Amino acid sequence: MTRYIFITGGVVSSLGKGIAASSLGALLQAHGYSVRIRKFDIYLNVDPGTMSPYQHGEVFVTEDGAETDLDLGHYERFTNHDHTRFDCTAMGRIYARIIEKERRGDYHGHNVQVVPHVIDEIKAFITHETSDMDFTLVEIGGTVGDIEGLPALESIRQLAFDLGREKTLFIHVALVPYIEAAGEIKTKAAQHSVRTLLSYGIQPDMLLCRTDRDLPQSAKEKLGLFCNVRPERVMTGKDLKSIYEVPLYYHQEGVDQQICSYFNLPATTPHLEPWKQIVEKFYQPKDAVDIAVVGKYVQLQDAYKSLYEALNHGGFANDVKVNLHPIDARNFEDYSSMADALSLCDGIIVPGGFGTHGSEGKIHAITYARETKRPFLGICFGMQLSVVEAARNLAGLKNASSTEFGPTDTPVIGLMTEWMSKDTLQKRHAHQDLGGTMRLGAYPCHIHPHSLAHAIYREAVISERHRHRYEVNTNYKDIIEATGLVFSGMSADGKLPEIVERPDHPFFIATQFHPELKSRPTAPHPLFKAFVKAALDRRQG
Ligand code: GLN
Repeated sequence: MTRYIFITGGVVSSLGKGIAASSLGALLQAHGYSVRIRKFDIYLNVDPGTMSPYQHGEVFVTEDGAETDLDLGHYERFTNHDHTRFDCTAMGRIYARIIEKERRGDYHGHNVQVVPHVIDEIKAFITHETSDMDFTLVEIGGTVGDIEGLPALESIRQLAFDLGREKTLFIHVALVPYIEAAGEIKTKAAQHSVRTLLSYGIQPDMLLCRTDRDLPQSAKEKLGLFCNVRPERVMTGKDLKSIYEVPLYYHQEGVDQQICSYFNLPATTPHLEPWKQIVEKFYQPKDAVDIAVVGKYVQLQDAYKSLYEALNHGGFANDVKVNLHPIDARNFEDYSSMADALSLCDGIIVPGGFGTHGSEGKIHAITYARETKRPFLGICFGMQLSVVEAARNLAGLKNASSTEFGPTDTPVIGLMTEWMSKDTLQKRHAHQDLGGTMRLGAYPCHIHPHSLAHAIYREAVISERHRHRYEVNTNYKDIIEATGLVFSGMSADGKLPEIVERPDHPFFIATQFHPELKSRPTAPHPLFKAFVKAALDRRQG
């Protein structure tokens, strides 16, 4: 049977619980254990698919097409394990399911209540198909004390009671600030949040103290005494320059030894070589490249989380540091200002996106990349706009556009109303719900043998993850290809363009899928590796 580790957060949000859970997962794997990580979010949205990237960061998509919280991306990058739709849910989905059951009459007229109905649904989510794993780590979203989080805490309290404390461990991640004026570390806020947790019947077994410095032994003892936690289980979780240092740091702190001793597991030596190598590459790059990311959600760095990480991985693979330059396309609606903004970069990315705002600026960035022969990678919306750019500027189709922007007589990008997913025909129409109705998850792509895509992937058939509603309209294929933009990857049925590229350019490639979702620090994605290499080649002349 699996062992559960429940991770809660206290004092403030943004403590990096996701990185903490992922790093613990990686560390336990380094000891040879199998690990799955799950996230329970407490907000009332049904899934993150329709949530604003400004508020919530990127939407991460799993192989099986679930639109999930960005923390799932961290789980995958750290554990190198594909997660599924069963690994992420939110309170809204739990309620939606309960209300659906109630409408169907499943409760036979009984009162439907938070206790037991909501609690039981959450418990069922947490324990679904976990028996094959040595450890199941469950991250509870939000902060202890949030009104909407109460049912989640009650569920994990009950699970610890049902399964036994020898099978369940509670880790509380709390902020322990250093107050400059006093010249001291302050433990009171963490004490209060543990007290709140205790009032829900949960005694944490381990504290992970988020600090900007190593905690002195005296602070650990004080926290231990007042929070009822053994001082050797009060751990420092210091801010580090690279997130990939965290598993190594936790090992140094003894987090893994304490977890093993808690569960009566033998102390083993973890295999941490891959993490040491990544951190070495992070600290000792041989060169640097400047990459412009021309998007819309650039103020918030979480909005392009997987993309930025995939670029870092591409940097590790080439021993270079990738300097990211996010550019808000909305501020550069005329060509010359965009060209100025891009003039010093070694490579340009136009990432995924939605809506008209900023699309003209993005198209200028594509024209600039094409004309100046800057390495270019377009992703999803970036691919669609590469097709619009070629149609407008090279094929003379002045009105070429996407139906996403409104009615057009030249829809080079249009709504796909039917396609095959595995064995079922999927249907969509323009006025249906926004949530969960895109082409989502992994689909195969057939690559043309004599193409840049083939040289990069070295495979004829690949599989990548999708998240989009519109597709390149193949009625315009011949016209577009005549401009030099070649369709080098197609869906299995040959109907949906997946990759376009320019043989007349050193590195110009754009994909309908999101390659960044599958990049891992231990296995950088071939497209990002090749893109960073192309940028480096350009820089080194
Ligand atoms: N807005 C585009 C579509 O829905 C692209 C989506 C994306 O870039 N993820 O097809």
